[in-house]
Amino acid sequence: MYYKKLQTIYSENELSKEFSISLLDRFDDFLRRNHKKDYLSPYQFALENDISVEQSVRFLMYYSGKEGILDVLPFVDCLSPTCHSSRIFLNDMDEYLDNRVICEDCGRTYSKENILPFIKVYFDIKDGVGIPPEKK
Ligand SMILES: [Zn+2]
Repeated sequence: MYYKKLQTIYSENELSKEFSISLLDRFDDFLRRNHKKDYLSPYQFALENDISVEQSVRFLMYYSGKEGILDVLPFVDCLSPTCHSSRIFLNDMDEYLDNRVICEDCGRTYSKENILPFIKVYFDIKDGVGIPPEKK
Protein backbone atom coordinates (compact mmCIF):
# COMPACT_ATOMS: atom_id res chain seq x y z
CA MET A 1 0.00 0.00 0.00
CA TYR A 2 2.67 2.45 1.11
CA TYR A 3 5.08 1.65 -1.72
CA LYS A 4 2.29 1.46 -4.24
CA LYS A 5 1.17 4.92 -3.24
CA LEU A 6 4.67 6.34 -3.51
CA GLN A 7 5.00 4.89 -7.00
CA THR A 8 1.49 5.70 -8.20
CA ILE A 9 1.80 9.35 -7.28
CA TYR A 10 5.20 9.48 -8.94
CA SER A 11 3.95 8.00 -12.21
CA GLU A 12 0.49 9.58 -12.35
CA ASN A 13 1.96 13.05 -12.01
CA GLU A 14 4.78 12.31 -14.41
CA LEU A 15 7.28 13.34 -11.80
CA SER A 16 10.03 11.65 -13.80
CA LYS A 17 10.02 14.72 -16.01
CA GLU A 18 11.50 16.70 -13.17
CA PHE A 19 12.69 14.28 -10.51
CA SER A 20 14.84 11.20 -10.98
CA ILE A 21 13.44 7.89 -9.82
CA SER A 22 16.24 7.69 -7.26
CA LEU A 23 14.65 10.63 -5.46
CA LEU A 24 11.73 8.33 -4.73
CA ASP A 25 14.03 5.92 -2.86
CA ARG A 26 15.55 8.80 -0.97
CA PHE A 27 12.06 10.06 -0.15
CA ASP A 28 11.30 6.64 1.31
CA ASP A 29 14.50 6.85 3.41
CA PHE A 30 13.60 10.35 4.48
CA LEU A 31 10.15 9.23 5.63
CA ARG A 32 11.64 6.28 7.52
CA ARG A 33 14.19 8.41 9.32
CA ASN A 34 11.79 11.20 10.21
CA HIS A 35 8.31 9.78 10.57
CA LYS A 36 8.42 9.87 14.36
CA LYS A 37 9.14 13.58 14.41
CA ASP A 38 6.38 16.15 14.73
CA TYR A 39 6.91 17.26 11.18
CA LEU A 40 8.92 16.71 8.02
CA SER A 41 10.99 19.63 6.85
CA PRO A 42 11.11 20.28 3.11
CA TYR A 43 14.19 22.42 3.81
CA GLN A 44 16.00 19.40 5.19
CA PHE A 45 14.83 17.24 2.28
CA ALA A 46 16.15 19.85 -0.17
CA LEU A 47 19.51 20.02 1.57
CA GLU A 48 19.99 16.27 1.75
CA ASN A 49 19.14 15.76 -1.89
CA ASP A 50 20.78 18.76 -3.45
CA ILE A 51 17.57 20.16 -4.89
CA SER A 52 16.13 23.63 -4.39
CA VAL A 53 13.67 24.33 -1.60
CA GLU A 54 11.12 25.16 -4.23
CA GLN A 55 11.57 21.78 -5.92
CA SER A 56 11.45 20.05 -2.59
CA VAL A 57 8.19 21.72 -1.58
CA ARG A 58 6.73 20.96 -4.99
CA PHE A 59 7.75 17.31 -4.77
CA LEU A 60 6.25 16.93 -1.30
CA MET A 61 3.09 18.76 -2.33
CA TYR A 62 2.43 16.02 -4.87
CA TYR A 63 2.34 13.61 -1.93
CA SER A 64 -0.10 15.78 -0.01
CA GLY A 65 -3.81 16.22 -0.43
CA LYS A 66 -6.64 13.78 -0.43
CA GLU A 67 -4.98 10.88 -2.18
CA GLY A 68 -1.58 11.53 -0.72
CA ILE A 69 0.25 10.41 2.38
CA LEU A 70 1.22 13.82 3.80
CA ASP A 71 -0.59 16.67 5.48
CA VAL A 72 0.58 20.22 4.87
CA LEU A 73 1.40 22.30 7.93
CA PRO A 74 1.74 25.97 7.02
CA PHE A 75 3.40 28.20 9.60
CA VAL A 76 5.16 31.51 10.15
CA ASP A 77 7.96 32.28 12.56
CA CYS A 78 7.01 34.68 15.33
CA LEU A 79 9.12 37.82 15.03
CA SER A 80 9.20 38.75 18.69
CA PRO A 81 12.83 38.81 19.82
CA THR A 82 11.87 37.01 23.00
CA CYS A 83 10.15 34.29 21.06
CA HIS A 84 12.21 33.69 17.96
CA SER A 85 12.03 29.93 17.91
CA SER A 86 8.27 29.93 18.08
CA ARG A 87 6.34 28.76 15.07
CA ILE A 88 2.76 29.81 14.59
CA PHE A 89 0.96 27.01 12.79
CA LEU A 90 -1.84 28.24 10.61
CA ASN A 91 -3.99 25.15 10.42
CA ASP A 92 -5.61 25.99 13.71
CA MET A 93 -8.66 28.04 12.93
CA ASP A 94 -8.50 29.68 16.36
CA GLU A 95 -5.56 31.69 15.15
CA TYR A 96 -7.55 33.22 12.34
CA LEU A 97 -9.91 35.22 14.51
CA ASP A 98 -10.68 38.61 13.00
CA ASN A 99 -8.21 37.97 10.26
CA ARG A 100 -5.43 38.07 12.77
CA VAL A 101 -2.90 35.45 13.65
CA ILE A 102 -1.84 35.21 17.25
CA CYS A 103 1.34 33.72 18.64
CA GLU A 104 0.32 31.42 21.46
CA ASP A 105 3.64 31.83 23.21
CA CYS A 106 3.96 35.60 23.48
CA GLY A 107 0.54 36.85 22.43
CA ARG A 108 1.83 39.00 19.61
CA THR A 109 -0.72 39.41 16.84
CA TYR A 110 -0.17 39.70 13.12
CA SER A 111 -2.59 40.61 10.42
CA LYS A 112 -3.02 37.85 7.89
CA GLU A 113 -2.09 40.08 4.96
CA ASN A 114 1.23 40.97 6.55
CA ILE A 115 2.34 37.43 7.12
CA LEU A 116 1.17 35.86 3.87
CA PRO A 117 4.51 36.38 2.09
CA PHE A 118 6.37 34.71 4.96
CA ILE A 119 4.47 31.50 5.18
CA LYS A 120 6.63 28.38 5.25
CA VAL A 121 5.51 24.80 5.21
CA TYR A 122 6.25 21.61 7.00
CA PHE A 123 4.66 18.28 6.27
CA ASP A 124 3.44 15.48 8.43
CA ILE A 125 2.64 11.88 7.60
CA LYS A 126 -1.10 11.37 7.70
CA ASP A 127 -2.60 9.34 10.47
CA GLY A 128 -3.17 5.82 9.32
CA VAL A 129 -0.35 5.72 6.81
CA GLY A 130 1.76 2.82 7.93
CA ILE A 131 5.35 2.53 6.80
CA PRO A 132 6.18 -1.16 6.42
CA PRO A 133 9.14 -2.25 8.52
CA GLU A 134 10.86 -3.90 5.56
CA LYS A 135 12.50 -1.76 2.98
CA LYS A 136 11.60 -2.70 -0.54
ZN1 LIG B 1 5.68 34.83 19.77
